[in-house]
Amino acid sequence: PANPARRVLLETRNVGGKVPLGVKKKNMRIVVTGGAGFVGSHLVDRLIARGDSVIVLDNFFTGRKENLVHHFGNPKFELIRHDVVEPILLEVDQIYHLACPASPVHYKFNPLGLHKTNVVGTLNMLGLAKRVGARFLLTSTSEVYGDPLQHPQVESYWGNVNPIGVRSCYDEGKRTAETLTMDYHRGLGIEVRIARIFNTYGPRMCIDDGRVVSNFVAQALRKEPLTVYGDGKQTRSFQYVSDLVEGLMRLMEGNHVGPFNLGNPGEFTMLELAQVVQDTIDPNAKIEFRPNTEDDPHKRKPDISKAKELLGWEPTVSLRKGLPLMVNDFRQRIFGDSKVNDAGS
Ligand code: NAD
Ligand code: UDP
Ligand code: UDP
Repeated sequence: PANPARRVLLETRNVGGKVPLGVKKKNMRIVVTGGAGFVGSHLVDRLIARGDSVIVLDNFFTGRKENLVHHFGNPKFELIRHDVVEPILLEVDQIYHLACPASPVHYKFNPLGLHKTNVVGTLNMLGLAKRVGARFLLTSTSEVYGDPLQHPQVESYWGNVNPIGVRSCYDEGKRTAETLTMDYHRGLGIEVRIARIFNTYGPRMCIDDGRVVSNFVAQALRKEPLTVYGDGKQTRSFQYVSDLVEGLMRLMEGNHVGPFNLGNPGEFTMLELAQVVQDTIDPNAKIEFRPNTEDDPHKRKPDISKAKELLGWEPTVSLRKGLPLMVNDFRQRIFGDSKVNDAGS
């Protein structure tokens, strides 16, 4: 940390994985930007359960208070309506920076707003990390690999990204966020971590955000046809949210900057995914083909050797195991069951 007094405070609080074996780490104060969203809310659950104090910053663009309502009234939890594009002063030990809509439907709605979130928002959170000596974790994305020419994708691959397409605001925005993060690290000694997250699903996903897993599950439950874009032979690798949260926490607590791929290497075509959804929800669900979207990556699968070796992490929940857990949550939300907010990961 730039401030010596702050450095002493941090060292006495044993931040940064320097805890001697057998000594319990003191509870920390942690900011989660985007904490009212799908991934963020599951992360908050784990941090609160561990005993940490959590401050969520969220502008509710795609997040919902319902995802966090079970923490209201807990003195260790604070929710601040705040857009990360604006500066903010806080005193914290760690920053998990997730604020950014993840679904193409949402980010294509306001590309300029997305640029500001990725560039100015990330800059502000890095500025905060610099001022208080906090450790900063960026949730980047597999989209930095674009339509990859290497398969599976290894972290050392630089990607194949269109800089002027309709997805570029997301892909290039995250690439800039990674660059900013590395420049604060190299130039100013800020402790940083970078995760490249692959397609993730689970309870609390937005129901109508246009992503393939949420679309198929909602469609099958509503007895609508499953909409397969293109020929359905493009592939993705789907990770259950609890595996991702475990990976993010190991990355934050570990000693490696990254970037690390965090994803499930199990690769499925969209037609195979439709089959799993049919098997799980409704064997009679129909399939309807639709034209594919522009710049859609043909295939995507993480090489997770680096995370396995350096973080001791790998996913444990297969698609066939994870999907039913999400279906229960979607069923309750779509059909108005009262236990909407209890979806654990
Ligand atoms: P999400 O849309 O559910 O959550 C994003 C949260 O950020 C929402 O609560 C939203 O309201 C908030 N937010 C957006 N812009 C903001 C701003 N300017 N200021 C404050 N809050 C803002 O998405 P998610 O799936 O939970 O994704 C979380 C992070 O993980 C994102 O950074 C995303 O890019 C990354 N990621 C997710 C996936 C995935 O498959 N879910 C894949 C790759 C990367
Ligand atoms: N920033 C912030 N909170 C802080 C410290 C900084 O929001 O506690 C913002 C600050 O407003 C600036 C950005 O982070 O826009 C980058 O900060 P830095 O100190 O790196 O740059 P500078 O302010 O010197 O241009
Ligand atoms: N997709 C689909 N049907 C849908 C929604 C998406 O076939 O109803 C396809 C989409 O064309 C892409 C894949 O599913 O090839 C994954 O799309 P998603 O938006 O979930 O994630 P991303 O493209 O960001 O990986």
